[in-house]
Amino acid sequence: MTKVFLDAGHGGKDPGALGNGLKEKDIALSVTLKIGNILKNHGIDVRYSRTTDVFVELADRAAKANNAGANVFVSIHCNSFDDSSAKGVETYSYPGSTTGAKLSKAIQDSIISSGVYTVNRGIKTANFAVLRLTNMPAALVELAFITNSQDANILKNRQDDLAVAISKGILNNLGIPYKGGGGTTLYKVQVGAFSVKSNADNLANELKGKGYSPIVVTSGGLYKVQLGAFSVRANADALVNELKSKGYDAIVVIE
Ligand SMILES: [Zn+2]
Repeated sequence: MTKVFLDAGHGGKDPGALGNGLKEKDIALSVTLKIGNILKNHGIDVRYSRTTDVFVELADRAAKANNAGANVFVSIHCNSFDDSSAKGVETYSYPGSTTGAKLSKAIQDSIISSGVYTVNRGIKTANFAVLRLTNMPAALVELAFITNSQDANILKNRQDDLAVAISKGILNNLGIPYKGGGGTTLYKVQVGAFSVKSNADNLANELKGKGYSPIVVTSGGLYKVQLGAFSVRANADALVNELKSKGYDAIVVIE
């Protein structure tokens, strides 16, 4: 059985890059889990360095992949730069690794042909620890610049498209035909639904004050305060329990 090791960058005490209200660790995890679901639907044995918001050392990520005997390793990150005009997608492999370069090209080409991005920064090489320490073809995708407002929008709103594009690239590299998105089920955590928008905004602001990143969505004529979408039910349940312990009436909604 083909094994793919997915590595969501950063996590836990290490948020990664920050920008436009987003944390790299959250985006990386969300996109990684979506990719994992699509690949599983193609009969692939998917392994992860993390499936929750925890810190994992770089060497441990590579060791896990090596121990699992994964066929390919793909790490998901977001870019950042002091100059907020920098934007676009780029994919890295380890210098001198021809199989890594082939994998990164397959992923980069697929992302570009998906049309999600207008800026193709190309494939590059870098001496990143996870690329250096893994012993299978490895690629690291810098999804977009979290520090650029247009890219941040993509990171926030086009995660499914990114996951499909990256999955297609990985499958192409493995010689497995893509057969669809796989009906990724999303488990969203909702803490309230209001008919008056200001009530939803007030609750969202209160939650922001407590370190959460809520969004207010409208559906069915109601303003709903949601706190993230998870492709793994247990992650949504964990957040619901945490919120309940703080006195919020949280529920999981399935979409
Ligand atoms: Zn990163």
